[in-house]
Amino acid sequence: MRIKILSEQLASQIAAGEVVERPASVVKELVENAIDAGATTINVEVREGGRKLIQVADDGAGIAADEVETAFVRHATSKLASAESLTAIATLGFRGEALAAIASVSHVTIVTRTRDEQAGTRLVLEGGHLRGRDAVGAPQGAVIAVENLFYNTPARLKFLRTTTTEKRVIDEFVTRYALAYPRIRFRLAHDGRIALQTSGNGSTRDVLAAVYGVDVARDLLPIGDTDAPAADGNASIRPITVTGYAGPPSLNRANRTHITLFVNGRWIKDSRLTYAVTQAYHTLLPKGRFPLAVLFIAMPHDQVDVNVHPTKTEVRFRDSNRVFGAVQRAVRDALLAETTVRPFAQLTPTAHAAGWAGALDDRSFAHSRTASDDAQQTLSLPQPAGLEEAIGATDSAETPPPDHALGGHKLPIMRVLGQAGASYIITEGPDGLFLIDQHAAHERILYEQFMAAHADRQIPAQGLVAAAVVQLTPSQAHLLAEQLDRLAALGFDIEPFGPNAFKVRSIPALLARVDPTQAVLSVVEELERDATPLQDTIEAHLIKRVCKTASVKQGQTLSGQEMEAMVRQLEACANPHTCPHGRPTMIHLSVAQLAREFGRI
Ligand code: ADP
Ligand code: MG
Repeated sequence: MRIKILSEQLASQIAAGEVVERPASVVKELVENAIDAGATTINVEVREGGRKLIQVADDGAGIAADEVETAFVRHATSKLASAESLTAIATLGFRGEALAAIASVSHVTIVTRTRDEQAGTRLVLEGGHLRGRDAVGAPQGAVIAVENLFYNTPARLKFLRTTTTEKRVIDEFVTRYALAYPRIRFRLAHDGRIALQTSGNGSTRDVLAAVYGVDVARDLLPIGDTDAPAADGNASIRPITVTGYAGPPSLNRANRTHITLFVNGRWIKDSRLTYAVTQAYHTLLPKGRFPLAVLFIAMPHDQVDVNVHPTKTEVRFRDSNRVFGAVQRAVRDALLAETTVRPFAQLTPTAHAAGWAGALDDRSFAHSRTASDDAQQTLSLPQPAGLEEAIGATDSAETPPPDHALGGHKLPIMRVLGQAGASYIITEGPDGLFLIDQHAAHERILYEQFMAAHADRQIPAQGLVAAAVVQLTPSQAHLLAEQLDRLAALGFDIEPFGPNAFKVRSIPALLARVDPTQAVLSVVEELERDATPLQDTIEAHLIKRVCKTASVKQGQTLSGQEMEAMVRQLEACANPHTCPHGRPTMIHLSVAQLAREFGRI
């Protein structure tokens, strides 16, 4: 084939792929344009996760009638005058690509008017081609409606994630801008339902309250740090300021997604700076837990290159070590200033500490439902079929093969010798010692009990005397709302209770001693863990999560009786050697191995 220059249409469709990856990217670009236009109110309306419609209305400067067509031409921008200005970009947009890219893969209608104009302009485009233009009455600003996204790029359409996922990603984007621009009134609605609304009163904490709920917002610690000019007085080194809010250690989360970073008003992804934040919490958080933080990093525009990637979410710093240091110091200072900061060990909720033992003795949930004698039988029955099989099939990768050194499936009779490190139960069997991981073992026990109850469709629920109200972020609320039926089958009676809030009326009896809010949050964390889990594995993951939440933790001292009960129940398990996530529940030290270690053979 001969070398040809791509048609403008094809070239912009290809380029569009980089800018417009998914519906959320359209939302991002349109909202950025509205912010750049100086809007004080931004209304985002989404239908069907953006497949059907994304409409962003703002009250910014608007586009003059004689420039509206130009705005949709590739590389047309009002924000970059010369090559020099590329080194110090103060606007969110500058590449002049977004409108052209969006228009080339959708149906776009724009209605806009500037302050000085009498009438507004309406333009209709289809796949980038002009289809209509007329003068209309319109308020100042711009309303851009994007319909039928990717209608002419079937490959992209096919790879779109589920509506739920898109909604969630859109929520996340709009939430970020709302946080970074507290003076702008944001309103986001999905299919007519409001997901986020901010007042525009300029208070970041108020936006945080709208996003995370008033309780969380109240607990957040303010951050304020100015990286003073270097001592040598080098004038080119100007300050980096870090402001924002960080959660106290007790507000920790299961993943890093609640660490949000902005540089000069632009949301960025930067694993190194995210690490700087987690580093600041060093020793204050349990392993595998992450803080909640919203940080605004401000620095001279020439100290950061935002022209790294078309989506402009990656940036390069002139002096990244200095930024790292400034972030870490600012967060650390805020934490140290807070007198109530304690090492995480003291923050472990006491509900857990008192709670687990009951689940082991005959008040355990299996017993609460049936007469206590046949409960014991339920536990020793073979694996319930159905879901357990489905889990085995989908999770086989994470379940190691059974440990043959232990001589097959069943456990030998063991005698409890004691507990080590408040985490491991030491037992003696016919051939040596066993170290049992109390958390993993308890997870396995609860899991098999839960699955047995599930097979009978009789998962006992524990009603709450006073319903608990859980406040979530819009994206979390979406995730939870989608799973309410599924959760109901597991014993959670949860119903929507105002915007992004839920009322919890009951939880699985297994979790009776866990704080109901914590129980629901841990379920939500599970849903957040995987952006697009297969629908049929969600239930399996949820069940495992419930068991994990209910089980005894590392670091809990157990009485002899409690250890006995745990070992007996583990012996009764069909799959005693691994926890539901596939980690081993025990280590075996055979007599022969001990002899070897002591140099006897
Ligand atoms: P960029 O934002 O990189 O300049 P875009 O393709 O997003 O490129 O937009 C092209 C131009 O259209 C902008 O430079 C701006 O002048 C104008 N524009 C886009 N959206 C708006 C808006 N909501 N209000 C006013 N002007 C806008
Ligand atoms: Mg733009």
